[in-house]
Amino acid sequence: MFRLVLFDIDGTLIRTGGAGVRAFGSVFEEVFGHSTGTEKIHFAGRTDSSLVREMLENHNMAATRENIDRFFARYERWLRHWLTELGGHICPGVEVFMQHCVERSSPPVIGLLTGNVRAGARIKLEHFGIWERFAMGAFGDDHEDRNELAVIAWQRGREHLGNGLGAEEILVVGDTPRDVACARHIGAKVVGVTTGGATRDELAATKPDWLVNDLSELSW
Ligand SMILES: [Mg+2]
Repeated sequence: MFRLVLFDIDGTLIRTGGAGVRAFGSVFEEVFGHSTGTEKIHFAGRTDSSLVREMLENHNMAATRENIDRFFARYERWLRHWLTELGGHICPGVEVFMQHCVERSSPPVIGLLTGNVRAGARIKLEHFGIWERFAMGAFGDDHEDRNELAVIAWQRGREHLGNGLGAEEILVVGDTPRDVACARHIGAKVVGVTTGGATRDELAATKPDWLVNDLSELSW
C-alpha cells in the first residue's frame, strides 16, 4: 500500500512544448551574452542546477553560487514568457490516475520529486492549474543530484506522515531512466511512463516495477 506518491514534472505530469529549454536559453543569452547556452545539453531527467553548471562550464565560466543565482534571478520571467508562448498540455492519463489516488479509502500523500527548482515547478504547474494538488516535494534547488533529491523527498514525506514511512510505501512516477534510478537509490517502487522523452525500450532497460504508455493504465 503506497502512502506517498512522488511525481516527476516534465514528461510525466505535463508537456510544455519545450518552454523550460527555451527559458534556459533566453536567460543564458540575457545574463551571460551567449545564444548557444543550451547547445549540447541533454535536459531530460536532469536537475536545473546541474544544467546551469554544465552550461556555464561549456562557455568557460565558473559555476559559482553568484553565477547560478544571477541565472535563476531571471529564470521565472522567461519561463512564464515561454509557457504562455508555447502552450503545452497535461499528459494523458494524469487526471485519471490522480483521481484514482484521491478516491482510495486511505489516500496517499501526493508530492513532487523533480529536478525543477521550486519556483519553476510552481510556475509550470500553476500554468496548468494543478500546483495545489501537491502537498510536499523535493526540488532542483534542494540538491544538484537527483538521487539525493529522492532522499530529501523521503525525509519530507516522513515529516508529513510521521515516522515509520518505509521506502516500499513510496511510489515514484517518472518518464526517464533517471527517475527509475533515483527511486532505486532509496528502495522505492517506480512507474515508468512513456509520455515524456524516453522510449519504451530505454525505460524497459531500467526495469521499473510498472511500465505504462500513460498513467490511466495504472492502478494498485
Ligand atoms: Mg521528466
